[in-house]
Amino acid sequence: MNSTKKGFNTICTHIGEVKDTQFKGAVSPIYLSTSYAFEGVDTKRYPRYFNTPNQEALCKKIAALEKGESSLIFGSGMAAISTTLLAFLGQGDHVVLQRALYGGTANLINEEFNKYGITHSYVQSNNIEEFEKAIEPNTKVIYIETPSNPLLSIVDIKAIADLAKRKGVITMIDNTFASPVNQNPISMGIDIVLHSATKYLGGHSDILAGAVIASEKNIETIFHLAKNLGGSLSDFTVWMLERSIKTLGLRVKQQNKNAKNIAKWLEKHDDVSKVYYPGLTSHPDHHIAKKQMKGYGGMLSFELKEGLDASKFQKALQLIKSSMSLAGVESTILSPTLTSHALLSEEEREAQGIKDGLLRFSLGIEEKEDLKNDIEQALQKIKILALEH
Ligand SMILES: *Cc1c(COP(=O)(O)O)cnc(C)c1O
Repeated sequence: MNSTKKGFNTICTHIGEVKDTQFKGAVSPIYLSTSYAFEGVDTKRYPRYFNTPNQEALCKKIAALEKGESSLIFGSGMAAISTTLLAFLGQGDHVVLQRALYGGTANLINEEFNKYGITHSYVQSNNIEEFEKAIEPNTKVIYIETPSNPLLSIVDIKAIADLAKRKGVITMIDNTFASPVNQNPISMGIDIVLHSATKYLGGHSDILAGAVIASEKNIETIFHLAKNLGGSLSDFTVWMLERSIKTLGLRVKQQNKNAKNIAKWLEKHDDVSKVYYPGLTSHPDHHIAKKQMKGYGGMLSFELKEGLDASKFQKALQLIKSSMSLAGVESTILSPTLTSHALLSEEEREAQGIKDGLLRFSLGIEEKEDLKNDIEQALQKIKILALEH
């Protein structure tokens, strides 16, 4: 089937399946073999070579979703990110990154890159001129993440792609927060798209996986390192991920709707001092988000008013779970200071604008009224507790 002409949900359900030629079953059969007969000199099939039947099929689906030529799937988001960065960077090279990055990516750069002789610069603001100023003669890669974690700041994707083309630099984006439902950076000129498939692609909080989508040529470069580093995904999980992606469009559209509705509601709420959501007209980069996103995503962050304890509020919630991860069909909440960004120093968090009372909220697919009721009852509970003391 030609994937380029199909709509999003049709790609989710039909593109990149393993045909069951034997029994004509409705879903892809799963091939768990780690050993395959030689079909020819070039077609050595082996899970670590990213070429089992289930891996190859799922890669077609993921490439089609991101409008890229080709893709590879990995054992985790970090396996995809580390392999891809190291495939294009070596001794003496330099990479420009935005400051607000997923914690694991920042740790990879800060803890490991020195020993490979790779230098880096962080760009503090989302300003394109700042990115341009950070480019050195040996800069090979610009790496962005938009919307960012946890403050949902927005970088102008097309402006970054144009700048990089002018400078002859490769561009990479972590598109996890937006998901392919809301944003397709390759269509805006970005070279390489990365995903933690643990998040929206998986969507049920039961899969650890990663993906990279790019041109055939760039995927070839990544593959050469990937087979040596050995970060491929087990075929059973590949099959789970294929199944999960069938409902990606439906899930994320509902999460978009919930997030937008609740962001607006929280913004007007007397107990909330600040809401971060790119779909709000009050967001400083709303106009950029509007230009490059089809929906604004299922993630938002907010701060409670002075005197309301964010940890007590979290504990008082009954429906919304306190949880480290995000993007599942169930709503979850966390404090970045205590969890995802705990490894950063206080100054570093302050530089990024992450306050101690900040709460990051991952919207699930529940009914919005139930979510609002849960927030309301938790706020009442902590206010009563505060009065008693
Ligand atoms: C979770 C996450 C990652 C890392 O993915 P893992 O699957 O946990 O390795 C990378 N980027 C973003 C934005 C994430 O949310």
